[in-house]
Amino acid sequence: MRTTQETVDVVVVGGGTAGHVAAIQAARAGVTTSVIEAGSMLGGTMTAGGVWMPNHFFTKTGPVVQGIPWELYTRSKEIEGLPVPDYRRRRPVETPGYYSYINVPVYAALAEAEAVKAGVVLHYHEFVQDVSAVGDLWEVASVGRGVRRVTHAKEIVDCSGDSDVVRILGMRVLKSKVSQPGTLQYKIGGIETEQLWKEEVQALYEEAMRDGVLRKGDWAYANMEPFLYYLQHGGHNATHIYDADTSDADGQTRADIEGRERMLRIFRFVRESIPGAERARIDFMAPHALARETFHTVGEYTVVKDDFVKATDFPDKVCNAFNYIDLHSQAIGCEVSFIDDPEAIPTVPFRALIPKGSRRITVAGRNVSANRIAFAGIRAQCTCMAMGQAMGAAAALAVQRGVASRDVDSRDIVALTVEHGAVPV
Ligand SMILES: Cc1cc2nc3c(=O)[nH]c(=O)nc-3n(C[C@H](O)[C@H](O)[C@H](O)COP(=O)(O)OP(=O)(O)OC[C@H]3O[C@@H](n4cnc5c(N)ncnc54)[C@H](O)[C@@H]3O)c2cc1C
Repeated sequence: MRTTQETVDVVVVGGGTAGHVAAIQAARAGVTTSVIEAGSMLGGTMTAGGVWMPNHFFTKTGPVVQGIPWELYTRSKEIEGLPVPDYRRRRPVETPGYYSYINVPVYAALAEAEAVKAGVVLHYHEFVQDVSAVGDLWEVASVGRGVRRVTHAKEIVDCSGDSDVVRILGMRVLKSKVSQPGTLQYKIGGIETEQLWKEEVQALYEEAMRDGVLRKGDWAYANMEPFLYYLQHGGHNATHIYDADTSDADGQTRADIEGRERMLRIFRFVRESIPGAERARIDFMAPHALARETFHTVGEYTVVKDDFVKATDFPDKVCNAFNYIDLHSQAIGCEVSFIDDPEAIPTVPFRALIPKGSRRITVAGRNVSANRIAFAGIRAQCTCMAMGQAMGAAAALAVQRGVASRDVDSRDIVALTVEHGAVPV
């Protein structure tokens, strides 16, 4: 195995939803930046995971997340030859804001090209295994096939989704006793939706559940929507994997196997039993199952439900967190609750992105310090990307000023992101 060394100002661990934006922001701000990513592309859950629906860039009345995420989104639409829809005319009833869709190959390739153009050094297929402090530098050990890398960096942004670096360093993390179920993304095509009769497919679904042909969780939204909805959406984003914990390889393997079992069971049922679905086929399956939540970092502040629903005006806010509370559970299925005041825009405080008692390391994305209910609102992709942009800026400013990221004023972080197109908060 080849052993190699690298020295950068900022290392971003995990090039997913938050991480790709963090890296582009840090590099565009002028510091040397690398990404260590276990997968084969940027974007994580929003690309490789098959959750291609980032929300929310806009409320009904104005922008909440812009900057690098919006730039990549709009440029990907240009490449696809599609207009960027006017947010004021999009789905005003179903969701509280602008719901958008990316084309995964286009978005992932564009994000990668922009990262490379900004000077980000990308290392795909590598897992971070060990992290230690050596004087004023971090030593980050990662392993990929045939390569063992030691990266020295002044700042780390942990965007692993499962607080990997924070856990390796033995810092505090939080895991809910009842975590939200996970999902394996897949999509069934070839269903002739015009042949579906709502009452008939509902009766067939209920009979299959009674007879044990289908199991609870195969159709996750049964408490909210009729089975017709599953068929109309080809089963995308529609299955629950209970207790999915993808924070290590054993848990990931179990979730992958259960996700595929569920996919195959319901696909057989649909194709064999639903009139109009005889020619159904599975068009897409993500390479791995996803968890909605595993280990949150315990930060200098933990965002709680009231902060989210009442939109606490944090003195150290770094980005917006506009979304509904999207809580999935084994007991109920899915509960969605909207914030009463449409003008209330929750935000993320810098302290929720600083691991408690740490220096020179921040987190972004799913790692954010938040309790169960607040987390069900904050974890949306646009917020994760905005957190990434803010922490990329914090790391860059820290390096340029010769201080630790935690000592950078949150107003300076926001100012730098605004220079790069973000919405002022
Ligand atoms: C089933 C499901 C449906 C969802 N639906 C929506 C939706 O419709 N709209 C929406 O806005 N949000 C949705 N969300 C929420 C949102 O997608 C996630 O919260 C968000 O994408 C998480 O971003 P992240 O950057 O924290 O993690 P990820 O995007 O998962 O990125 C983490 C990255 O880190 C890498 N990594 C992990 N550990 C290591 C390591 N040790 N070394 C190197 N790399 C590592 C991973 O490979 C991955 O690429 C959904 C989530 C799920 C699971």
